[in-house]
Amino acid sequence: MAARDFYEVLGVKRDAGADEIKKAFRRLSRKHHPDTGGTEEKFKELNEAYQVLSAPEKRAQYDQYGRYFGGEGPPGAGGAPPGWPGGGYSPVDMGDLGDLFGNVFSGFGGGGARQSAARRGSDLTYELSLDFDEALAGVSTKVDVQRSERCATCKGGGAKPGTSATSCPACGGTGHIQTGGGMFAFSRPCPRCGGSGRVIESPCSACKGKGAVLRMKPVTVNVPAGVTDGGKLRFKGKGEPGAAGGPAGDLYVVTRIRKHPFYTRDGADVLMDLPVTLTEAALGTEITIPAPDGTKVKLKIAEGTQDGKLHRISGKGAPKLKGSGRGDLKVKARVTVPTDLDAEQKELLRRFESSRGEDVRAHIK
Ligand SMILES: [Zn+2]
Ligand SMILES: [Zn+2]
Repeated sequence: MAARDFYEVLGVKRDAGADEIKKAFRRLSRKHHPDTGGTEEKFKELNEAYQVLSAPEKRAQYDQYGRYFGGEGPPGAGGAPPGWPGGGYSPVDMGDLGDLFGNVFSGFGGGGARQSAARRGSDLTYELSLDFDEALAGVSTKVDVQRSERCATCKGGGAKPGTSATSCPACGGTGHIQTGGGMFAFSRPCPRCGGSGRVIESPCSACKGKGAVLRMKPVTVNVPAGVTDGGKLRFKGKGEPGAAGGPAGDLYVVTRIRKHPFYTRDGADVLMDLPVTLTEAALGTEITIPAPDGTKVKLKIAEGTQDGKLHRISGKGAPKLKGSGRGDLKVKARVTVPTDLDAEQKELLRRFESSRGEDVRAHIK
């Protein structure tokens, strides 16, 4: 294949600026990338042109002397200028390409090559059981959370005290393995050392060489008043510590609320059944009931109250998690029918029935 002029390859004028060259390369390399249907040949050509035209010194040499210094032979056949490995142009710089491509090519070899040292700690989740009243009042409590912490024996290095990690023999300490060759070389993290460039010959016995140990650690969490069953609270920065200066993860606390003898929750509303006798329902009465906030509330049961009648006592429910104030206390009247009448009571009821002489089923005949 006849070597084309680098400016022609990138489709830019000879006086094009650095930005213009970068843009042209970005556009064309997306178009011709092997992962998106382009040919490797074309992609190599683009890279070669870009490697030269994007480096001011190399570009100046190219402008002055042309493609091969002295004009003889293809790259690699002795025409290399001093300091240019392999007689051609340096292998693709993955760091640079990685920046250029961003996440456009997820399968592109450069992605894993760079090690990001700082790492955010993991998020942790903990399930916390609370009494009904605790959930209403809020509580400050300690939860034992299993966190991975720096090993005290090896100070996090992972090597047995008195020994130290050595340079990885597989990658020569660089952390990367080169695959392919020449201009189309890719590098990937070294599988032996995981990209760190160091291997531990005598691992620390306390952490088995991991540099970290799992430890139960009490963490104080302030549970706000009004949490609900299954609610999830986030405590920022209380998860696992980050690595190499990275931020700590978050701690999520899922609240489980134990059953109360007579209250149930519906968000910020509290529900309860209130048993009333036949007579109370028929004649009406006033009943003092305990509210969830510890106060007593007087509730008027009207004359002729039906079973299931709902009474709403405003602002006597659970504290609202969002906003202020409290939900309502919803009281449902439950008319109870006696099951243990003696002979005299039965006789009284029969007399009562005959004095009524009513027909409650007139409409369904
Ligand atoms: Zn250790
Ligand atoms: Zn290695």
